[in-house]
Amino acid sequence: MELLHLKQLDIQNKKVFIRCDFNVPMDEFGNITDDRRIRSAIATINYCLDQDCAVILASHLGRPKGEVVEKYSLKPVARRLHQLLKKEVVMANDVVGEDALGKTADMQSGEVVLLENLRFEAGETKNDPEFAKKLADLAEVYVNDAFGVSHRAHASVEGITAYFDNDHKAAGFLLEKEINFFGKLVNNPVRPFAAIVGGSKVSGKLEALVNLLPKVDKILIGGGMAFTFLKQLGYDIGASLVEDELLEEAQRIMDKAAELGVKFYLPVDVIAADRFAEDAVSKIVTAQEIPNGWMGLDIGPATVRLYREALNDVQTILWNGPMGVYEMERFARGSSKIAHFVADSYATTVVGGGDTADLVQRVGVDEEMTFISTGGGASLELLEGKILPGVKPLIKEEA
Ligand code: AMP
Repeated sequence: MELLHLKQLDIQNKKVFIRCDFNVPMDEFGNITDDRRIRSAIATINYCLDQDCAVILASHLGRPKGEVVEKYSLKPVARRLHQLLKKEVVMANDVVGEDALGKTADMQSGEVVLLENLRFEAGETKNDPEFAKKLADLAEVYVNDAFGVSHRAHASVEGITAYFDNDHKAAGFLLEKEINFFGKLVNNPVRPFAAIVGGSKVSGKLEALVNLLPKVDKILIGGGMAFTFLKQLGYDIGASLVEDELLEEAQRIMDKAAELGVKFYLPVDVIAADRFAEDAVSKIVTAQEIPNGWMGLDIGPATVRLYREALNDVQTILWNGPMGVYEMERFARGSSKIAHFVADSYATTVVGGGDTADLVQRVGVDEEMTFISTGGGASLELLEGKILPGVKPLIKEEA
């Protein structure tokens, strides 16, 4: 699968619409707390500016659900872009309204306009063709650099591509990097290849797990999803998170792993708590001895050692999903320890998923990972073997 490359388009002096993912976290005062997504888009923006383009930037932020909600305004993003690009960024007060049309009408090369939050318009998430056309009419060239939303068929990601032919649309550098990285990782990994899969539920990652099985050498399970497997093994898991309707599926996954010779690891001990709370009473117990009414909220120290041992000889590590309720300090230790091993290992280390990316950043080892995917849902769908709706229109047709 080859994407339409930005560098192969003739964009000199043209007006370019770049769909970015500026959906950045902010604190209660509207300050951006992590600008990685904005920084990641700079390469594509600068390339277009170097080609003397006029650049229209568009993104969503949060879920304003088709209405103008001031706290989801992209104004703080415009200010950060101004600092990072070291040039003026004109902020439009709407998306395809009078202000945006006025500000994007007579743009000179080198100018940058940022549209307001795409999701202030209901047509965005509905993939409304009329809205998509209005967006398309703003520019001559379309570039998608928003990996994080490319699994959504939204107007600025999917609908808009219908209005540009293959000489006028392309994947941005970030999108291309993410797609190629995951493609190479999953289809051609340096072995041994281990996947660490955690998070709350099996259901959210079922297809990814099934798709990964034939490709990996080891799977290490953590987080809430471990308990569905442990219950299926006949353990008493107390009040831990469980998906009873997936017990059989859990068995099938374990059988398939055995059949394929994939080493399937489950926690051997957990931190059990009497309630789901930071100030709960907690203790270390073996996976076989979770007290009645207690819940496992993190992997225990023996599991941490076991997983370190299992990761010792691997050459590629893919990590998606925390090992416990890492948002609570009491139950963050397992995830934090695993983050350190992964960071210290000589393997190629790839972190996918919003929570896991957040986690490695909190632990302070984000710089030591080979690759952190900016998109959570999108990276999971890639692992499931799907072609993302925002990527499909940007695939080069075979000659
Ligand atoms: P996901 O969105 O499926 O990747 O899951 C991430 C969430 O799983 C995080 O918010 C964690 O707090 C939660 N989580 C991890 N381990 C557990 C657990 N043992 N019990 C309940 N929730 C968990």
